[in-house]
Amino acid sequence: MAEPDLAESHLLGWLSTVGLDAHYVRAEGDYLYRLDERGREIPVVDFAGGYGSLMFGHNHPEIVALAQQMLTAQAPVHAQFSRHPYATELAARLTAVVQRETGEDGTYNAVFANSGAEAVEIAVKHAELDRALKVAELQTEIAEHLESVRAAVTEGTAAVPDEVARVAGLGTGEAGPVAIDRLIAHIDEVNAARAGAEPLLFALEGGFHGKLMGSVQLTHNAAYRTPFAALGTSARFVTREEIPALPKIFEEERVDLLDLAVSGNEVAVVHRRLPLLCAFVLEPIQGEGGIRLLDSESAATIQSACAEADVPIVVDEVQSGMGRTGTFLASTGIGLRGDYYALAKSLGGGIAKAAVMLARSSRYRPQFELVHSSTFAKDYFSTTIGLKVLDLLEADDGAAYRKAAERGAHLLDMLRSVQRDFPDVVRDVRGRGLMAGLEFHDQSGSEVEGLRQHAEGATLGYALAGKLLRSHRVRTFPTASSPNTLRFEPSIHIGDKEVAQLEAGLREVCALLRAQDGPGLLEI
Ligand code: PMP
Repeated sequence: MAEPDLAESHLLGWLSTVGLDAHYVRAEGDYLYRLDERGREIPVVDFAGGYGSLMFGHNHPEIVALAQQMLTAQAPVHAQFSRHPYATELAARLTAVVQRETGEDGTYNAVFANSGAEAVEIAVKHAELDRALKVAELQTEIAEHLESVRAAVTEGTAAVPDEVARVAGLGTGEAGPVAIDRLIAHIDEVNAARAGAEPLLFALEGGFHGKLMGSVQLTHNAAYRTPFAALGTSARFVTREEIPALPKIFEEERVDLLDLAVSGNEVAVVHRRLPLLCAFVLEPIQGEGGIRLLDSESAATIQSACAEADVPIVVDEVQSGMGRTGTFLASTGIGLRGDYYALAKSLGGGIAKAAVMLARSSRYRPQFELVHSSTFAKDYFSTTIGLKVLDLLEADDGAAYRKAAERGAHLLDMLRSVQRDFPDVVRDVRGRGLMAGLEFHDQSGSEVEGLRQHAEGATLGYALAGKLLRSHRVRTFPTASSPNTLRFEPSIHIGDKEVAQLEAGLREVCALLRAQDGPGLLEI
């Protein structure tokens, strides 16, 4: 008797309805292999590319050889709380690459993790620790000022003017030692209430930052986020149109603590900005949001508004980073500089689960290391693979970055040619380097019931991906939050032949959509 499938069989059942429930038995380069009924391998070109985690393809021989070597040598994979020179080296080399690309000379401290969502959460968690410590430092500073002002008034070298006394609800003529005590008690009460306010997190509309309890609140897609809203701090989502108004938006959220100073011989109230804005989290190219590029002008506006209001920028490069767009970081392509970077996916070379959060050292709080850790993070295996991935990226003066740009341009040219020939079917083609997306027009007005249902259920992309797999042996998926957009994120080794295979598949899908041929597209 067959055993019940207890590993997400609901999801698998759903994938089978569109013919995407393949079982792959081998993977190499840009190919996955499944077996036919006679046990022969059927190659499938993998344009999903591990959802962007295969810059060098499946089972790259040099990465596999290194992994085998480590295991044969009985390398200490798990040795938490000991020296990790390989992780130290990886952190130093990541900093060097970021410095080269950004042209900045500050270093970044690394905290390693296991997944993209974790790296994002670590960045936000660190930003919150930093913010809370800044609030505490401000409170300590204010407490010292209040005491010295109290001493000055008690000694008679300063007086509380009426308008200042009124701040505390004191009547005129009450100035003097009693008044200063009441004034300070009032300020303490106001400040304590204000300092305890919830931190504010900002994220871009359409962004995707993971599905864990904290990160899912930064992920804009309501279907993922709202069922769990009660569990995490909600983000304020900023639309692209709102970006120019960011300085105003930050200013509207401004909350001040009250401080006192002596000016001449009079006590004056001073407003001190409370660090309430915890972080601005964004992707330079939204992956799951439909391969949407942030433009340089918006990046510059975000950068200056965040600098002005001292809001740290968390650049989520989980999908766009590690060279995928032709530079190590996609953000450098638009001049965006992060206070934090989240990297994952390709860092693990396609075989390890690895992620890292880089925090600008000038913001870094060493005490974070005492309150954050993970059993599997920073292990010998994944960090050594990470070093190998960097070697491969940086070899021959960055040939891999150039390859990503060149292969990506070829892929995008092909997608644009399909768009040109089927403008009634293809709404848009977007991307940079090996991060490309093709968006189909909405089909919710289709006369074909099956197409309409897929469009209404936000599953059209899955249905079209099923057709590409069944008829053309091409694997792709829609982006998670833009269901009409198919993603293409192959490795730098993708060949013209494979791009042509994808083109043939896309052209057939487009022709069938144009003809509104429901059975041709949907029948399994
Ligand atoms: N951030 C971005 C930009 C992503 O694309 C993803 C995954 N698609 C994540 C975070 C989450 O990464 P993971 O699935 O490894 O948790």
